[in-house]
Amino acid sequence: MTNCVFCKILAGDIPSKFVYEDDYCFAINDINPKAKKHILVIPKEHIESLNEVEDSSLIAKMFEAIKKINKQENITHFRTQINTGSLAGQEVMHLHIHILAN
Ligand code: AMP
Ligand code: ZN
Repeated sequence: MTNCVFCKILAGDIPSKFVYEDDYCFAINDINPKAKKHILVIPKEHIESLNEVEDSSLIAKMFEAIKKINKQENITHFRTQINTGSLAGQEVMHLHIHILAN
């Protein structure tokens, strides 16, 4: 997707440090953190939102990644959040899971 900020980050067109990466997803620190640690877990495939997920195993893979990221970042107490649709606060129309930890 040419006009998608997360696709641009994945392509290296917008500089960003990856906290984590595997075959299915990558993770970055949120540019506008709403908690002491605020990490975004993002599938490499451009999927607009949870509504467009066809293979639910992707979601399991993302949560497996979350477990690894949390271990790496020493996060044990955290919230996860998926905003779906603009009326629910989704600003970037590329699926992502927020990890929020204080
Ligand atoms: P959402 O409202 O669920 O779509 O969340 C989008 C999140 O992406 C927001 O928390 C933004 O702060 C974050 N964000 C937007 N652009 C960037 C960027 N270039 N690097 C890191 N995080 C970003
Ligand atoms: Zn995208």
